[in-house]
Amino acid sequence: MENKVDEVKTAVAKEEIVGASQPVEESAKAVIAEEVKNARQEKRIDYRFKTDLGLKVASGEIKDIDEILGKNLKMLEPQIVDYLIPGLETDFLFIGQSKGKLGGGKRRIIRNTQKVTAKAKRQHFSAMAVVGDKNGHIGIGKGRALESVVAKDKALKKAKLNMIAIKRGCGSWECACKTPHSIPFKIKGKCGSVIVTLTPAPKGIGFCVADDIKTILRLAGIKDVWSRVDGQTHTRINLGYATFNALKSLSSYSVLKSESESLGMSM
Ligand SMILES: [Zn+2]
Repeated sequence: MENKVDEVKTAVAKEEIVGASQPVEESAKAVIAEEVKNARQEKRIDYRFKTDLGLKVASGEIKDIDEILGKNLKMLEPQIVDYLIPGLETDFLFIGQSKGKLGGGKRRIIRNTQKVTAKAKRQHFSAMAVVGDKNGHIGIGKGRALESVVAKDKALKKAKLNMIAIKRGCGSWECACKTPHSIPFKIKGKCGSVIVTLTPAPKGIGFCVADDIKTILRLAGIKDVWSRVDGQTHTRINLGYATFNALKSLSSYSVLKSESESLGMSM
């Protein structure tokens, strides 16, 4: 019986295909375009998760990244972030410098360092990536390798595994609009000698900050902020980490419910 059913089904399918193929080439092109699209999507979706957390995400038990970040669970697969945040944006900080006369000058994404051994100079490349969804989630990571492309990949992977959720709000007394366009209170972050101080600003101010801090704040979903930086800010790696630490410290303060309402805090 089952074989007969199958035969009928295949016959029907064939007829359908014949019927559909008469408008011909234009529909075929559309079908191919769709297949390519699906394949691209499936490449992300069909990744075989190996860890327990990954399997929970794939089965649909965990649907939001906040469930992972809130419980402080350890992520080991960067694909989890890709899966849970489809509109993830990435950017690189300008931590390097181009070679040339008079010390080169132009800032580059890739940082090139050398170790002089008895035989030769050994080159290493490093890059620093920032990932975020422009909605309160941000990650930062640094990768170092013998080749620049590998260093970039490593940095992206580490940034995804290093994601945090940040508190946003409006802590400016000039604004008091109760929407999460800025930060709820003044904070400080440190890395090496660099100290970054971020201050809430009213709507329309934009970023009154250094260029590399802009990248991080933009991907975090903050729009208006004043800042002050101290220390050796030419060391861009430390500047990036100091900003990240400042944003991280936002969630280390516990705020009263009535206060958080008046500050318009997002979480
Ligand atoms: Zn405001």
